[in-house]
Amino acid sequence: MILKEGEVVFEVPDKLTVTKKDEVFYNPRMKTCRDISIAVVQAFLNLYHKKDKFYIADALAGSGIRGLRYVKELNFDGDLKVFLNDINPIAYEKIINNAKLNKIENIEVYNEDANTFLSRHFRFFNLVDLDPFGSPSPYIDQAIRALVTRNGLLCLTATDTAALCGRAKKSCLRKYLAYPLFGRDCHEFALRILAGYAMRMATRYEIALKPIFCHATDHYVRVYLVTDRGAKRADKVFDMLGYVKDVNGIKMVRKFEEGYEKGFSGPLYIGNLYDKALVEEALKIAEERGFGERVLKILKAIRGEAEIDQIGCYDTHQIGKMLKISVPPMQNIINKLREMGFKASVTHYNPKGIKTNTTLKNIIEAIYGC
Ligand code: SAM
Repeated sequence: MILKEGEVVFEVPDKLTVTKKDEVFYNPRMKTCRDISIAVVQAFLNLYHKKDKFYIADALAGSGIRGLRYVKELNFDGDLKVFLNDINPIAYEKIINNAKLNKIENIEVYNEDANTFLSRHFRFFNLVDLDPFGSPSPYIDQAIRALVTRNGLLCLTATDTAALCGRAKKSCLRKYLAYPLFGRDCHEFALRILAGYAMRMATRYEIALKPIFCHATDHYVRVYLVTDRGAKRADKVFDMLGYVKDVNGIKMVRKFEEGYEKGFSGPLYIGNLYDKALVEEALKIAEERGFGERVLKILKAIRGEAEIDQIGCYDTHQIGKMLKISVPPMQNIINKLREMGFKASVTHYNPKGIKTNTTLKNIIEAIYGC
C-alpha cells in the first residue's frame, strides 16, 4: 500500500503487524517521533551547523521513511545527503523504490549489517541515527566512530524500556552497564542511563558527548547528543555522570568519582538534558510546519522542563496518596508554585509529574494552598 507521512510518499507491505515479522518494518505511531526529529535536527542546523555539508546515516532504515523525510524536509543551504542502510534485502529494495517515488536523488542505499556500514564510514557523518528493534547498544560504538568528532549529532532510539525503566534489571546491566531505577519517573532515568552509556563509550576515543534534547514517548525513549573532541573535554564527562537513589520522591545523588553504593541506580547522566535555545527553535519549527497537537504538547512541556535543572520529578499522585487527599489539577499546583516564586513545569513523560526548583515541603504547601 502507498502511504504519506510528512512530505514523503512511500510503499509498505499491505499487511502490517508492526512486529519484526513484517516483510518491511513501518510503525505509523512513530510519526510523532519522526516529526520531532525533523524539528530538532532543523533547529540544530539553524543554530549550530554552519558548514556546507550535512551527511546523515539512517543505519537501520526499515522502509526508509525516517531518512527520506530528512532529505526531503530539512532546509539546508549546502550539500545534504542521506545514507540509508538496512540488513533486510526486501527493505533495501523498498528504500530504493521509495526514493524513486519521491524523485529523491541525493541518497545512497546500502544492504549491510549496521556495524559494517558504519565502520566503513569512519568520522564521515554529521548525523548518525539509530532506530533499531529494542536496544541501540550494539551499534553505539560504531555510530560514535562514524561521526565527525566536532558538532556531530548522535540520535538514539531505544524501545527496550523494560530494561531501561527497571523492570528487567539484568538486561539493563547487560546492555547499558548500569542499574536502572524503577518508579514513577523511570522514563527520565531511562533517558539518563542511555545518554550516560553513550557518553562513557565515547570517552574512549577522547570524544565528549553532550545531550541537547531527549524525550520518552509511548514505548520508546530517544536522546540526541553532540560530539566534541579532546581528552580534557572527555575527562569532564565524568563530572556529569553519577548515581541516583529515590527516597520517598526525593533524589539523592552520588558523583561518579564517589563510586557505586547499593540501592542507587546508574551510572547515569546527571546534568541538564536540554539545550534551551534548541528546544525553543524546535518548537517554533514544529508550529510553523503544522506538526499537530501531540508534537506541540510534548515540545511545550519540554520547554518548561528545560528551565528547571532537576533530576526526576515530583509525582503529585504519589504525594496525594501520602497525604491521603485528592490533589488539585496540575495546572493549579504549578500556578501556585509560581505565585510562591518558584519555577514549576509539567513533564512530558508523566502527566502527574511536576518539575520545580523547590522542596517537597513547598509543593505540599502549594497543594494545600490551591
Ligand atoms: N527507522 C525505521 C522507521 O523509522 O520506520 C524503523 C527501523 S526498524 C525499528 C529496525 C530495522 O533494523 C529493521 O528494518 C531491520 O531489518 C533492521 N535491522 C535489524 N538488524 C540489523 C542490522 N544488524 N543491521 C542493519 N539493519 C538491521
